[in-house]
Amino acid sequence: MYSILNSIRNRMHSQCPLCLLDARGGRLCVGCLADATADRKGIERCLQCASWLAKHDKSMRCQTCMDNPPIFARAVCAFDYGFPMDMLINGFKEQGKLAYAEMFASMLCGSMKESSGEMFDVDFLIPVPAGVSSLLRRGFNPAGEIARALASLTGIRLSRNWLFRDRHALPQKTMTLAQRRQSVEGLYRCDRRLPPVWVGLVDDVMTTGSTLNACAQALIDAGVQGVVALVVARTPQVWQNDGYVSRHTGSA
Ligand SMILES: [Zn+2]
Ligand SMILES: [Zn+2]
Repeated sequence: MYSILNSIRNRMHSQCPLCLLDARGGRLCVGCLADATADRKGIERCLQCASWLAKHDKSMRCQTCMDNPPIFARAVCAFDYGFPMDMLINGFKEQGKLAYAEMFASMLCGSMKESSGEMFDVDFLIPVPAGVSSLLRRGFNPAGEIARALASLTGIRLSRNWLFRDRHALPQKTMTLAQRRQSVEGLYRCDRRLPPVWVGLVDDVMTTGSTLNACAQALIDAGVQGVVALVVARTPQVWQNDGYVSRHTGSA
């Protein structure tokens, strides 16, 4: 059923949310999609965290992942968090433009297909749970909407009741990587044993990966075999002086 609905939606005329030219199914027009995904071809990304690799990196992983490997095995993003796609992310999260979830999921699906095959034998999709205050403010969980749309596009099963968030976290925008990791430690939990499956952990924006890491830890502790981070937007980490720093600050 999901493929029939998506097929019908893909043929419906709409306006590109960026340039307002003709598009289909509420998604980007061909030109804007090409611009938004151009970085997929020109930039080498770390296999584990999807960050840009510095020119001198000879391995497939960035120095941050080599020094402090994330719990999740790999990460895939649809695009970098930056202009103009950050406007759409903002419209989705803060102005409730929920229809963008389908577009983001479609772009993320494109990245998944372009990446190597073995990692996408994920058995379940799980959204990063939202905090109570953001749920009350927005009325929805952005990651949940994207995960639902991605499940519809891919046919991968969605599970919303495996992972929970326990308490309030402090705002993370001005925190360092170490502070972010500490602030989300123990924030997420699973309340039962989970099957030994591979999980696609879905989120809207990944900045340092601390939130995804904490979620992945809870899932692994509960018994899943492995976790792949599936994020719509990745805040680029650029090499400056002796380390990687985020070009933008967003969620963790
Ligand atoms: Zn356009
Ligand atoms: Zn990395």
